[in-house]
Amino acid sequence: MPENFPAYLISKTDNGQITELKDITLDELMDGDVTVKVEYSTLNYKDGLALTGRAPVVRRFPLVPGIDFAGSVVSSEHPGFKQGDKVVLNGFGVGEVHSGGYAGMARVKGDWLVALPNGFTPRQAMAVGTAGYTAMLCVLALEQHGLTPDSGDILVTGAAGGVGSVAVSLLSRLGYQVTGSSGRASQREYLIGLGAQEVIDRSEFNGKVKPLAKERWAAAIDVAGGNTLANVLSQINYGGAVAACGLAESMDLPTSVAPFILRGVTLYGIDSVMASIEKRQLAWNRLARDLDLAQLEAMTVELPFSDLPAAAEEILAGNVRGRTLVKIPS
Ligand code: NDP
Repeated sequence: MPENFPAYLISKTDNGQITELKDITLDELMDGDVTVKVEYSTLNYKDGLALTGRAPVVRRFPLVPGIDFAGSVVSSEHPGFKQGDKVVLNGFGVGEVHSGGYAGMARVKGDWLVALPNGFTPRQAMAVGTAGYTAMLCVLALEQHGLTPDSGDILVTGAAGGVGSVAVSLLSRLGYQVTGSSGRASQREYLIGLGAQEVIDRSEFNGKVKPLAKERWAAAIDVAGGNTLANVLSQINYGGAVAACGLAESMDLPTSVAPFILRGVTLYGIDSVMASIEKRQLAWNRLARDLDLAQLEAMTVELPFSDLPAAAEEILAGNVRGRTLVKIPS
């Protein structure tokens, strides 16, 4: 096991938090019964918030950010894992209140780990990352609602982002007619390449929210919240559903009860952080079955570890397309 390894470390000062790239030791990690050599991590929207301090994502200091990682177990006191096992971790407060993936080594609870699903390398699992696994949780919620490809058109908001790109790709592979909503006209060809039938401008969802608007979508996956989600809810067909997972536009939801009580619309809240291990395994197994790995590669950019702070600014500015992968140096 290496004595020193590179890590981003966020500390609290009188002037707020600071993020440094430095060498740390295992003693600087938090308690846990499994130690993992981290091979890959990713940049998710929440990582952008954590690295920049733009929102109080990090709530314990000093802390290694990075809400997800994939790697190999180097030592384990947990009955479910042994040295050499390949594992994936998403959420459970990692990168928020427990040191996470932006370090050569991580020490975590074995109860938080999922065995790397067959068919994925650690690199591919992190190309999926929290964003892709959350997209799958959204798809599972809509399927449980009874949605099938015959139900009608499906809308994905924030389509060119991480959750959105994986959602478009998954839904189209499953046979759905998908419309992507994006603020970036330049990403139209990219989204058509992932399987979107149509790409619309996200400004369509910026206007004043009507209690009910013309029925347009059998279901939607929403990453934006705010006015976008409120307008989407007003346009859902009778008996349809929305899986809401994000707040890229806003935490607010300026809607009325009309879509729920007059059209029987269902709003599913999707949380990836504290999802049960059973739900995670199901999501990862479905990703292994349903995600087109060539499309996954096409939507993924690999960054050097040292570029993470700059990339954090870019993801918050809405300039990052698809998924961002980071190889963690040892
Ligand atoms: P990305 O930054 O990769 O994608 C977000 C996308 O949202 C952007 O690319 C953009 O898409 C769109 N967007 C940005 N600003 C606005 C705006 N003002 N109005 C409407 N759309 C906007 O982030 P992720 O895909 O990683 O995450 C998406 C959201 O989901 C985030 O809010 C994140 O915190 C949340 N999330 C929640 C999880 C959970 O467990 N509930 C897990 C993972 C993510 P475009 O350019 O196409 O318009």
